[in-house]
Amino acid sequence: MISKIEVEAAACIGCGTCWVACPQAFKEDDIGDDLKALPTGGLGDQLMMRSAAEGCPTLAITLLDEAGKAIYPTEEARAALSAANSW
Ligand code: SF4
Repeated sequence: MISKIEVEAAACIGCGTCWVACPQAFKEDDIGDDLKALPTGGLGDQLMMRSAAEGCPTLAITLLDEAGKAIYPTEEARAALSAANSW
């Protein structure tokens, strides 16, 4: 179960996918000439949070369970992104 969300600001390209997909859990942060995603501090529907994280093109979103263990991105997702970036 997703209990906490982290967003790696350096990896976020501000595409907006997450805050559109799950505004309960993500919000935009206007940092001047750029946008970044921030966790709202709240939680949304489990499937919506998962969908938002899976839709992040840079895997900037980490989903953590109650014990603080990262449950997303998976190793498969990291490998797929790495493969895509090696083109
Ligand atoms: Fe940033 Fe990913 Fe959210 Fe896009 S989906 S705004 S890259 S955290």
